[in-house]
Amino acid sequence: MPTPVLVIPAPSQPSLAVAGMSARFPVRRIFCVGRNYADHAREMGHDPDAEPPFFFTKPGDAVVESGANIPYPPQTSDLHHEAELVVAIGMGGAEIAREDALLHVWGYAAGNDLTRRDLQAAAKSARRPWDMAKGFDHSAIIGLVHRAADGVVPQGRIRCMVDGKLTQDADLAEMIWPVADVIAFLSRFVMLEPGDLIMTGTPAGVGPIASGQTCVVEIDGLSPASVTVG
Ligand code: MN
Repeated sequence: MPTPVLVIPAPSQPSLAVAGMSARFPVRRIFCVGRNYADHAREMGHDPDAEPPFFFTKPGDAVVESGANIPYPPQTSDLHHEAELVVAIGMGGAEIAREDALLHVWGYAAGNDLTRRDLQAAAKSARRPWDMAKGFDHSAIIGLVHRAADGVVPQGRIRCMVDGKLTQDADLAEMIWPVADVIAFLSRFVMLEPGDLIMTGTPAGVGPIASGQTCVVEIDGLSPASVTVG
């Protein structure tokens, strides 16, 4: 197909730095899992045994690389951190079988699903969508992508620190739906494509990041995802 002539300049392609490589990972869409750790589901007032995984999205250009300084987001006074394992999809597919799911993974990263918690609470009570609570500018902080082909297997601790104070501390094994299940489930709803990211949910301990604070997500074996706000 010939390259189309565009009436305005093409939007830039969001991408992420890759550990040990100069080439970058192009970002297409960002899917996020809600309530994938039982203790976080409970802290948000839900029964973790009652629900299959559910998904929401952020725009692909919400990605921010680790180390960035972002403005305090507008329309909120309760910006929250959510430490999450991020899966980078390298091979697309629909109706992916659980047993084949990890073949679709290009890599893994640490991430922070920034959330305007006050807007989310208002949306929940009004039965409105979460988009403005979750899918805002600079809302997906993501560390270096580590290649699965290099033998990287996500396991061990996931932690979050705000100005050095530990706020979230869990083990990836506590995920209700492990990575393979998340991919299998999500691929029943959409055709996954190379470049898609999946933020796999957060453990208990979510809380605010104030203006001027630095928030760091650490996952064993992966590069951290750090952001300074305001
Ligand atoms: Mn989340």
